[in-house]
Amino acid sequence: MNKSDSERIAGILSHFDYVETDVEKEADLLIVNTCSIRQLSADKAYSLLGVWGKWKKTRPELKIAICGCVAQQDKEKVRQRAPYVDLVFGTHNIYELPELIKRIENDEKVCAITNTPVVCDQNDFKIIRKESVNAWIPIIEGCNNFCTYCVVPFTRGRERSRRPEEIITEAKNIVKEGFKEITLLGQNVDSYGKDFKDENITLANLLRKLNKIEGEFRIRFVTSYPSDITDDLIDAVEECDKVCKYFHIPMQSGNSHILEEMNRHYTKAKYYEIVSKIRNRFPDVAITSDFIAGFPGETEEEFQDTLDAIDELELDYSNTAAYSPRVFTKAGKMVDKFLTEEVKYERLNRLNEKNREVCLKSNEKFIGKTLKVLVESKTVKDGKITLNGRADNNKIVHFEDTTKKIGDFVNVKINKAQTWCLYGEPVV
Ligand code: SAH
Ligand code: SF4
Repeated sequence: MNKSDSERIAGILSHFDYVETDVEKEADLLIVNTCSIRQLSADKAYSLLGVWGKWKKTRPELKIAICGCVAQQDKEKVRQRAPYVDLVFGTHNIYELPELIKRIENDEKVCAITNTPVVCDQNDFKIIRKESVNAWIPIIEGCNNFCTYCVVPFTRGRERSRRPEEIITEAKNIVKEGFKEITLLGQNVDSYGKDFKDENITLANLLRKLNKIEGEFRIRFVTSYPSDITDDLIDAVEECDKVCKYFHIPMQSGNSHILEEMNRHYTKAKYYEIVSKIRNRFPDVAITSDFIAGFPGETEEEFQDTLDAIDELELDYSNTAAYSPRVFTKAGKMVDKFLTEEVKYERLNRLNEKNREVCLKSNEKFIGKTLKVLVESKTVKDGKITLNGRADNNKIVHFEDTTKKIGDFVNVKINKAQTWCLYGEPVV
């Protein structure tokens, strides 16, 4: 979501003759787009501001801005830590940038943080996309779930869906520009459309509409909330040839008591049911997840349930993190239940070890199979050209070829599997 926001910020600025520079030190305006999902990412943002503040001492005309979740969370307090910052703008204020930029150009110090977004058609602004093959489209912003560990509902606000017509226009433009993959984004994509009064506006129906756009491209969507995945969504994924057979469904914990403490609206059994429903429908599907190690009060036995779940569900890959207390959240206040850093990181290590183990197992299942790979990049080493891409199920695949190029879809027969990737050769 942050990457997508940055592309939109760069696009809006381009309307005001700002161009991106590769040389950070030469920039007239520096913006850090921040994430506050864990303390580490927030700390990184402030340390970057510290470096830029030093530059401003010798170049007072330099303008410094901070946006994203840390800005939304800390508001005016950003300036207590970094008084030299010219502009603080929140996650709802990106589309106010044209005005905000003019104000800081006139040497005003600005803090623009609101709790409601500026309503506009995003297609009125350019988007400077960073990747040449994949294009991000945010379809829903914010979250109503209030998981007890998570700061997102406080930094991104309540759920707001974009109108389907606006998304379809953006998608058509993307395909016309030659992108080969569209990734629909949202903190909880399954909630798409629930804030409209029209029950036909759902993620499933959006996929059906996007699938009708002519051209050779594919569609992904992230992130899914386990118990919100409907049968109609699974039907839509099956019906739509352009939609990847891939689901990212964070489980967070393999223990029902911890899930309840996290305020996740499903049990371990319900999650197992969803995974088996999807696996029964799509033989080569990949299902990936997120897990948190060391949630407040988590016992060793409860943590063991997470390791067991990863094994039993044969998950294809998981993002992992040690629990990080966040401001405003319920779990952040459970101080007497906090585990020590030592326990959290020891569990995280075991979680990562389990993840590596199941990833390799999952990859080995594809040896001998042919996967359709979208080429994303090329590496040349010792005169050998290797093409790198991802299969429909999001597996990373490398193969040698001199005839294909970035953006091509190639059928690749897999002949070797490693923990994080597959190797193969093109077949006709
Ligand atoms: N909406 C998605 C997740 C968005 S946040 C969902 O519900 O699954 C991305 C991931 O960050 C989460 O899945 C979670 O695993 C992790 N995360 C969020 N808050 C965290 C915290 N306080 N400490 C550690 N990890 C956290
Ligand atoms: Fe955070 Fe939970 Fe919302 Fe995901 S569903 S963004 S984890 S509150």
